[in-house]
Amino acid sequence: MQTTLAEFLRGTPDGEEAKSIVGKCVHCGFCTATCPTYQLLGDELDGPRGRIYLMKQVLEGQPVTESTRLHLDRCLTCRNCESTCPSGVRYGRLVDIGRKVVDERLEAEGVRRPAGERFARWALREGMTRPALFGTAMRLGQRVRPLLPQALRNKVPRPVAAGAWPRNAHARKMVLLDGCVQPSMSPNINAATARVLDRLGVQLLVAREAGCCGAVRYHTGDHDGGLDNARRNIDAWWPLVEAGAEAIVMTASGCGVMVKEYGHLLRDDARYAERARRISALTRDLCELLPDFADNLQDMAGAARRAGNGQRVAYHPPCTLQHGQQLRGRVEALLTALGVDVRLCADSHLCCGSAGTYSVLQPALSYRLRDDKLANLQASKPDAIVSANIGCITHLQSGTDTPVQHWIELVDRLLE
Ligand code: SF4
Ligand code: SF4
Repeated sequence: MQTTLAEFLRGTPDGEEAKSIVGKCVHCGFCTATCPTYQLLGDELDGPRGRIYLMKQVLEGQPVTESTRLHLDRCLTCRNCESTCPSGVRYGRLVDIGRKVVDERLEAEGVRRPAGERFARWALREGMTRPALFGTAMRLGQRVRPLLPQALRNKVPRPVAAGAWPRNAHARKMVLLDGCVQPSMSPNINAATARVLDRLGVQLLVAREAGCCGAVRYHTGDHDGGLDNARRNIDAWWPLVEAGAEAIVMTASGCGVMVKEYGHLLRDDARYAERARRISALTRDLCELLPDFADNLQDMAGAARRAGNGQRVAYHPPCTLQHGQQLRGRVEALLTALGVDVRLCADSHLCCGSAGTYSVLQPALSYRLRDDKLANLQASKPDAIVSANIGCITHLQSGTDTPVQHWIELVDRLLE
């Protein structure tokens, strides 16, 4: 689609990037059929092709309305449409830019979001991205969990013990992104990762100055705040990288997809561009990392296979893994090698509705998607559901008594 950028966007990095993305769309509509919000709402403007058309109008300077913002808000940023698109349209980047432009234009015209919505967005940005504050609130919430209203209880998982963090020193070292909400919501995920890598001869380091990957701020329109988070993390990790750390390890695919974009997002920052590119290149989701240890895993696999034998799990691949990072099939292969009967459910390409802050900002659509996903996941009567992102895990667990956990926790138990 040919786009003539409005004066205020001409020559800007965001404007030119958005124009080139829209230019690749041939309007075929293949993506529409696989879009979860189009499937739920049946409105062309709640599908990727319609949203691209809306954003093209915005880029060209046509009037922006609250309806434009609503259709963009309802997008999960699941990027399923990117996996389907035959033309390579980078929809995720486009919608990040489009949302920011729409918000700025409406603000400039005095059309503010309702007060409740503004507060929710502020609370998410300021609360989720501060691990100490979030951890205190989570511990308090867990103490009074039975008394909480259902909507809040859904966000407060039952407390779990993290288990021991290994103390062994190894010559091979990697850096872990601790994350902002995961350590208090599910502390065992990072500890299990450290134990598994320890068994494989790798010491996992955590830079305490690092924090949120920046996705929460960036995807709620605060691009500057998100990039500041990225710069802080790069500063925290860089000395460890210079000292020989082999990889930046991601245990949440939502963070991984963001950190892998640091290089692109900071490409015009003279001070950070090179380091950001290097950090992104070193970033690995756990499912990319463990196959590198196939030989070691094979040595341990005998006992693990006996332990795993007979266990049936349903695997939910997060959108940020299967669409955002285009990583498919690896978790299933790994668990199968360890003797686990692992199943993908029907429509496994569809989002579970968690989608970062979406379950808070668009609860009605989010819970419809969760319930559909759980019905599919539970059809095989699994002993447990496994996934690869804390948001999906918490969201799914809020709707079922079947245990939902990170797949690395299962591997950790099998290798014990
Ligand atoms: S990102 Fe997901 S919800 Fe948004 S348009 Fe694409 S497929 Fe639909
Ligand atoms: S599949 Fe790709 S090219 Fe076709 S309408 Fe969707 S985004 Fe455009």
